Amino acid sequence: MKFAITSRGDSNSTSYVYRIKEYLIDFNLTYDEENPDIVISIGGDGTLLCAFHRYSSRLDKTAFVGIHTGHLGFYADWVPEEIEKLVIAIAKTPFQVVEYPLLEVIIRYKNDAKESKYLALNESAVKCSEGTLVMDVDIGGQHFERFRGDGLCMSTPSGSTAYNKALGGAIIHPAISAIQLAEIASINNRVFRTIGSPLILPAHHTCLLKAVSDNNFYITIDHLNVLHKDVKSIQYRVSEQRIRFARFRPFPFWKRVHDSFISSE
Ligand code: NAP
Ligand code: MN
Repeated sequence: MKFAITSRGDSNSTSYVYRIKEYLIDFNLTYDEENPDIVISIGGDGTLLCAFHRYSSRLDKTAFVGIHTGHLGFYADWVPEEIEKLVIAIAKTPFQVVEYPLLEVIIRYKNDAKESKYLALNESAVKCSEGTLVMDVDIGGQHFERFRGDGLCMSTPSGSTAYNKALGGAIIHPAISAIQLAEIASINNRVFRTIGSPLILPAHHTCLLKAVSDNNFYITIDHLNVLHKDVKSIQYRVSEQRIRFARFRPFPFWKRVHDSFISSE
């Protein structure tokens, strides 16, 4: 089996990189940064987001596992004290795989410029380069509302505990193939109206955000934020691809939610 390790890059995380590499090579595994069967991410949830994007072209062949060197993470749920146990599990057992849904993002431009396609593990948020974001929201090919406000955030189930949660969105269990649209400070009065509540769309439902007058938007894909110019529309739906996590022990999602947000007792 081939493995790769990604790290946050701080000295603490880096020291574990060397240890794990040595252990796994001793177990006759091969270090292969290009075509790994398993990617071990050491750092935080942000580190796993980077690992995901680095290997997003081979999601069907690569499984991920995260070790946290800071606070408990949603994607990084092993502690450094367990490294020996984890290494043995990786080397010795055919591991179980748990799949989580991803968000597909297609950005189309005016003047028929080539579209851009992305996958997000957490979310994609749209903001305006200047002033209020105004966009028409279509769902399933039907006009739903004209949104005015600071922005819109479409998240995955596993991303629902990140930015989405701060926007008042619901936490969605990752066994549900869905995406969630949350508003960022919408304008609501007698003249302008949006739904106000987060919307949860099932697989195969498409949400299209269409530019109204301004065509320049800051569009985030997880930790990446890029200014896209001459945008015609942004299309969101549940991707047909999924991320695969290597599971070596049960760690239920609701326990992670409890331990991260309520208490670690
Ligand atoms: P960051 O600024 O370090 O991330 C903000 C926090 O979100 C960190 O504590 C990070 O954990 C945590 N996080 C990331 N994914 C999560 C998830 N799925 N569930 C719960 N918490 C999660 O930047 P980053 O590490 O590159 O992460 C990018 C993410 O930050 C974005 O995808 C977005 O979701 C989130 N974000 C949140 C807010 C907000 O809550 N107001 C605003 C902007 C962005 P680690 O410290 O373990 O990395
Ligand atoms: Mn981070």
